[in-house]
Amino acid sequence: MQKIKILDIPFDNITKKEAPELAFSRISAKKKTVVVTPNAEIAQMCAEDENIKKVVCSADMILPDGEGVVLASKKLGTPLFEKVAGVEFGMDCVSLAAERGYSLFLLGGKEGVAEKAASELCSHFPALRIAGVRNGYFDRDSKENEHVLNQINKSGADILFVCLGAPTQEKWAAENRDKLSPLLICCLGGSLDIYSGNVKRAPKLFIKLRLEWLWRLLKEPTRIGRMMNLPKFLHSVNKYKKLQKRGTKC
Ligand code: UDP
Repeated sequence: MQKIKILDIPFDNITKKEAPELAFSRISAKKKTVVVTPNAEIAQMCAEDENIKKVVCSADMILPDGEGVVLASKKLGTPLFEKVAGVEFGMDCVSLAAERGYSLFLLGGKEGVAEKAASELCSHFPALRIAGVRNGYFDRDSKENEHVLNQINKSGADILFVCLGAPTQEKWAAENRDKLSPLLICCLGGSLDIYSGNVKRAPKLFIKLRLEWLWRLLKEPTRIGRMMNLPKFLHSVNKYKKLQKRGTKC
């Protein structure tokens, strides 16, 4: 797999069609796989916090979820094939899981969201086996975390969606990967809110015009603070490019 480094994060240069197939080939090969899908906001978090960067870079698959990341790859002269949106990657994994008989555990979201997502997904994919669900509000530093791990492991799930928001989910997946029995662990942010139908994804036109971020901002104006990471990200990419030219970055 070709890796393309952006702000030191080695993104997989892969198409949205290939990504779920690669993830499932790793399940068949019994290789534990953590998938993360950083967008520009998360990449900027990594640039500002070495610990977050370490956690993100420790994942087995790093998919570029965002036009900002793809734009940065072009600016750096090493273009990525395309954006691989986490929410779409997750949906493709659900479809393959239903087709190939793998079971799925949904972790995250407020009370009731994972249940609703499970029932919506099962109505689209009647063959889908949901091994279990759990909301994402638990104390990750106490015994409660062990209960959650037990619940997931006892469910016998092959695949786990971890939807706790970034960077919480990436940290949780990295810390617990060796204690978890599902072979495929996908960190998918707010995807359960979308699968449940509680939150609508941007209209197709916004996605086509690469303005999904603007739609999210219009829907949730409180995201403005987080979104200030976008211009910061572009600034970091420019700095990174200069370092690359000087030969201090590869
Ligand atoms: N969430 C959660 N546990 C927490 C904090 C957040 O399960 O302790 C969920 C929240 O309910 C939402 C998701 O994590 O469903 C975060 O969604 P967001 O769209 O903010 O994801 P991001 O943009 O960070 O990927």
